[in-house]
Amino acid sequence: MSLRKIVIAIDGYSACGKSTTAKEVAKILGYKYIDSGAMYRAVTHYFLEHYVSLTNPKEIANALDGIKISFHINEDKETETFLNGMNVEKEIRKMKVSDQVSQVSALKPVRTAMVHQQRRLGKDRGVVMDGRDIGTVVFPDAELKVFMTADMQVRAFRRQQELLEKDKLVDLMEVMENIHMRDKIDTTRAESPLRKADNAVGIDTTHITLDEQVDEVIRLAISRILKVSF
Ligand code: C5P
Repeated sequence: MSLRKIVIAIDGYSACGKSTTAKEVAKILGYKYIDSGAMYRAVTHYFLEHYVSLTNPKEIANALDGIKISFHINEDKETETFLNGMNVEKEIRKMKVSDQVSQVSALKPVRTAMVHQQRRLGKDRGVVMDGRDIGTVVFPDAELKVFMTADMQVRAFRRQQELLEKDKLVDLMEVMENIHMRDKIDTTRAESPLRKADNAVGIDTTHITLDEQVDEVIRLAISRILKVSF
């Protein structure tokens, strides 16, 4: 018997543990993991490198024509983001990208191009995708939609630790300001603002461990795959 493959959409605020959870869930289910935020980060990195003006539609359109994003699995089985064949995984996690990414991802042509690629990547289902609009816009028909939240202090601290693991020491206040600024732009933009889909399951990760987050999503996923509730 082969089990049906579903789409799992994990949306929520910045630094709530979406991608860490999504990666683990994908590994356990043998699904593809797609980090949609990495795609917006890669576009932002390109725009910064090529001095693309965010107010010039022609420059934006030309830039988007020259951008090809792909994901590759490295020897440690981690997914890395490639921009036009170049590994940009480290670059796109830097604060200078984090500081601009929400402005870039609020642009309609940028969203149109990314949503198109995201739908293509998930067309065969069997995918876990995390982001801001996956359950509302990219895959409104996703069988499982999760919406993650957590207290600001916890989110900032976790993100600071994550950066530290990559040898980047960033002041906690700077991390907090960046998260706050991105949440604000992401929730108030005209195009696909961040919001919980009506049929999404909310998970507050403030007081739970990563293992507990993963267990909960796996439990929900199995119930959707088997079409039973427990
Ligand atoms: O997920 P991550 O924090 O890396 O995403 C970076 C930024 O990309 C977000 O703050 C948001 O502005 C944008 N984004 C988006 N839609 C998505 C995923 C990310 O607008 N589906």
